[in-house]
Amino acid sequence: PPPPPTAATTATQQQQQQQQLPKAAAVGAAYAPLVSGRLKAAAANPQLAKTLDPASGLQDNYSVLGVLGKGSYGEVRLAVHKLSKLRAAVKSISRAKLDAKLRKRVEAEVKLHRQLRHPHVVRLLEVISSSSTICLCMQYAPGGTLREVLDTRGALSEVVARRYTRQMLGALHYCHNVMHIVHRDLKLDNMLLDANDNLLIADFGFADSVGASNRKLKLLCGSPHYSAPEIFAQQEYVGSHVDLWSLGVLIYTLLNAHFPFQAASMEALGKKVMRGKWDRPLNASAAASALVHSILTVAPAKRATLDDICQHEWVLAEAARPEDVIPFEGQAAAPWNDEAAAKLDQMGCSAALVRFHVGQDAHNHVTAAYELMLADHLAGQQPAEPAPAAAAAEP
Ligand code: AMP
Repeated sequence: PPPPPTAATTATQQQQQQQQLPKAAAVGAAYAPLVSGRLKAAAANPQLAKTLDPASGLQDNYSVLGVLGKGSYGEVRLAVHKLSKLRAAVKSISRAKLDAKLRKRVEAEVKLHRQLRHPHVVRLLEVISSSSTICLCMQYAPGGTLREVLDTRGALSEVVARRYTRQMLGALHYCHNVMHIVHRDLKLDNMLLDANDNLLIADFGFADSVGASNRKLKLLCGSPHYSAPEIFAQQEYVGSHVDLWSLGVLIYTLLNAHFPFQAASMEALGKKVMRGKWDRPLNASAAASALVHSILTVAPAKRATLDDICQHEWVLAEAARPEDVIPFEGQAAAPWNDEAAAKLDQMGCSAALVRFHVGQDAHNHVTAAYELMLADHLAGQQPAEPAPAAAAAEP
C-alpha cells in the first residue's frame, strides 16, 4: 500500500494542485480562451495576479484581523479575502507545534472537512500551506457559538432548541449516512451560527472516516462533558453512537443551560456518565425528556439511532415527515450561480476562469472567492426569519 501521507506530501500535493491553475502550456488549446481571459483579468486586477500565484501565502490573499477563538491546536482569526472583499475565518496551525501524531490529525481534518458540503457544516474553502504554517480558510460564522448564546441568554425555549437540533440532525445525517464521517467532538463551542442564525458544525480535528460498514474506533477523544460511557470505559466504540450521545448532551444543555453530568474530577464524571443518571431532571416537556432519555442510554446498542431521533415526536413537532423539516441534503459540488460569478467578473476575476476551477472541483483562491461570493449572494436572498427570541413561546 502507498505510505501514509505526511505533512510534506500534503504541502507538495497542495502546491501541485495550485500549479494546476491553468497555464498556457499545460492546459492546451481547448482552454486557450480561458487562459487569455485569465491573463486579461489578472492584468486588470493586480490582486488577482497575486492570487493566481501558486506560491502565494496567506497574506497575499487575506488581510488577517483579530482572533476569533482558540481550538485544540490552532488559533482562528477573522480575515478579509482580498479578491472578493468578503470575510472568512482562518485557522492557523504552526508546524513547529505539531508532532507526528498531530500532523496526521491535521491531515485527516483537511482531507475529511474538504469533502463536506452541507448547509449546516462550516465550509472549508482552501488550505494555504507554507513551511511554517498550515492555514485552513473557512466560511466565517458571525453569530458566534452556541456556548456564547447560552452564556448570554440562558436556557433556550423548546422552539429554538428544536430548530438548532433539526439543523444538527441534518448535518449529522449527511456526515454519518452519506459521507460515512464521524465528528467525535460535538460540543457547544463547535456549533457556530451564521448571519441568519443557522447552525454550522465546525472543527473536524477529531473526525474520522468509518466507511459504509461503520467500523469501530479506538482513539479516546472528545470533550469530557460530552463523552459517551464507552469512551470513559475505554472500549472500542462505534463513532456514530458516540456522536449521538454528544447530541443528547447538547439537546439537554440547550434546554437547561447546564450539563446533564457534572463532577469535580474526571474519575467522578466518568462514574456518573457510565451510570447514566442525570444530576437533575430535564426541565422541559415530557416529549423532550423522553427523547433525551432515549439518546443518553448507556448501552450503545440500545441508544436511539439517528433515524429514531429524526422520527421522534419532539423533533417532528408540527411537521408531517422528517424530510419536511430536517435539511438532509448535502451537495457533491459547488452549484453554479451566474450572478455570483458575474459579481466576481466585475471585480476582475473572469467568469470563465471561475467556471473552469469550479468545474474541476478545485480548492484554490478562485474557488474560495466564488464560494464566498455564492454564500454572500444566497444569504442576501434568504427571507428574513423571526429572531429566535421572538419565536412563539412553548413549554
Ligand atoms: P476550532 O479550532 O475549530 O475549535 O475553533 C476555535 C474557536 O474559534 C471556536 O470555538 C469559535 O469560537 C471560533 N471559530 C472557529 N471557526 C470559526 C468560523 N468559521 N467562524 C467564526 N468563528 C470560528
